[in-house]
Amino acid sequence: MSATPPTPPVEPGTWTGGEGSAHVRAVLAPNPSPMTLEGTNTWVIGDAGASSCVVVDPGPPDEGHLAAIEEVVDGRRVEAVLLTHRHPDHSEGAGVFAERVRSRVRAEGPGADDLTDGDVIVAGDLEIGVLATPGHTRDSVCFYVGADDALLTGDTVLGWGTTMVAWPDGRLDDYLASLDRLAGLTGSGRVRRFLPGHGAYLPDADASVHFYLDHRRERLDQVRQAVEGGATDVQSVLEVVYADVPRELWPAASRSVEAQLHHLRGTERS
Ligand SMILES: [Zn+2]
Repeated sequence: MSATPPTPPVEPGTWTGGEGSAHVRAVLAPNPSPMTLEGTNTWVIGDAGASSCVVVDPGPPDEGHLAAIEEVVDGRRVEAVLLTHRHPDHSEGAGVFAERVRSRVRAEGPGADDLTDGDVIVAGDLEIGVLATPGHTRDSVCFYVGADDALLTGDTVLGWGTTMVAWPDGRLDDYLASLDRLAGLTGSGRVRRFLPGHGAYLPDADASVHFYLDHRRERLDQVRQAVEGGATDVQSVLEVVYADVPRELWPAASRSVEAQLHHLRGTERS
């Protein structure tokens, strides 16, 4: 039996952005695709009446999109432009947008080493916590908005479908550890809602993270069986294990397969 995802708040493919939680709003970027779902969510975090806010993942450098984010910012000071990770669908417009609102871009990892696990960013009365959650990429982080019991997950957890582990930058052992960490937060009730990088908000974060964990374990079992059945390379594993996944997603799936093969062989760190 395969893991079933919790029911999303809107039909997959129909999310248009808007309120994700009491203090967090999404501006949907015009970059839909099989990988980005309805498009990238640019999240604006802050109290409407406060003097400052934070912008997460400005997305592509599309003039109309950047103007739409600025409209939601509505004159508040932008404390920081944060990135959940550096894939271009999240980060490409970040520099331009930061200049526009006289702020600065902050991200985790090589080249920046700026955001660190445990950092807290303050915008008005809100505190936004930084959680390192490598796996999708090495520099993936989540942002915790305690006032809303909400966690911005970037591409670590998506609104629908499942995400990829972008080998060699992404590693499956990291990814599983990150999901376990999220499960700890949802299990204790500190996080009730996920605000993903793509797709609608997930109102039952605990069910969503357990679906992801089940799905990953299932895929890993399938890959293990395929290898035992004689599949020797990425392509032959794809044909057996990812037969149910649309072909256009195979390039991404192949990176997840590589991550899984390395995980099974114990060669992720070599
Ligand atoms: Zn993305």
